[in-house]
Amino acid sequence: MEIIFASHNENKVTEISALIGADFVVKSLNAIGYHDEIIEDGETLEANALIKARTIYNKTKSNCFADDTGLLVEALNNEPGVYSARYAGEQKNANDNMNLLLKNLADFDNKNARFVTVIALIIEGKEYLFEGELIGKITENKTGKFGFGYDPIFIPNGFNISLAEMDLKEKNKISHRAKAFEKMIDLLTTYKQ
Ligand code: IMP
Repeated sequence: MEIIFASHNENKVTEISALIGADFVVKSLNAIGYHDEIIEDGETLEANALIKARTIYNKTKSNCFADDTGLLVEALNNEPGVYSARYAGEQKNANDNMNLLLKNLADFDNKNARFVTVIALIIEGKEYLFEGELIGKITENKTGKFGFGYDPIFIPNGFNISLAEMDLKEKNKISHRAKAFEKMIDLLTTYKQ
């Protein structure tokens, strides 16, 4: 079965393709020739994931899914949350975002944080939501060279290295996104023909 991933990010498409198994072929927005930007103006991760999935479903009437992720920092009232990509501005720069977060958190002893991924799936016209979470702490300094986003300043609970010190295989064993993807795949297997 073919399924569209409402994302232009080919890294994510590769990641999900590796997890999803041979019964499904995942196509990116680039692969179906959809090059417009989808405006993510929802106030929650769920809302943004649904906006993306519904936009593509309404356009194509094909099975599709979309994801949205945020970093929720306890001492900062769960910021940056839905604004994680553009926390320090519309330039969406990972270094700027990390620097601002470290500055805003500097005076707090509570460094607890979690990544949350929400996936919205529309299959045979029915909508489903799935969530995955990774709990950990924000560090004082950046470490590691792998990954992206806030990985250099996030240490998952039970580890003493940042996500950016893990290779993709290690990260995928524990990550918020992989957990949400796995829940979606469990549901999809009930649909495979
Ligand atoms: P998106 O919804 O996957 O585009 O994620 C929104 C933002 O959250 C990204 O721009 C990153 O700043 C951050 N983010 C998402 N996933 C991760 C991750 O696995 N590690 C670090 N940062 C992430």
